Amino acid sequence: MKNNIHPDYKECEVKCACGNSFQTKSVKEEIRLEVCSECHPFFTGTQKFLNRGGRIEKFKKKYNMDEE
Ligand SMILES: [Zn+2]
Repeated sequence: MKNNIHPDYKECEVKCACGNSFQTKSVKEEIRLEVCSECHPFFTGTQKFLNRGGRIEKFKKKYNMDEE
């Protein structure tokens, strides 16, 4: 029952359609992306917006509750 708790993570090469590639850890040996942090504005521009939104606040709230 507990055999799959730790997946077999290994070095993985992530290749994006824009030509960018980088290494990460994954259960897969290769991942192909259509967009990555280098070519998609979601990762470069929207992140700041998300920080101001509710998602991060909920996260902080949860952690604060756990601490106290
Ligand atoms: Zn890309």
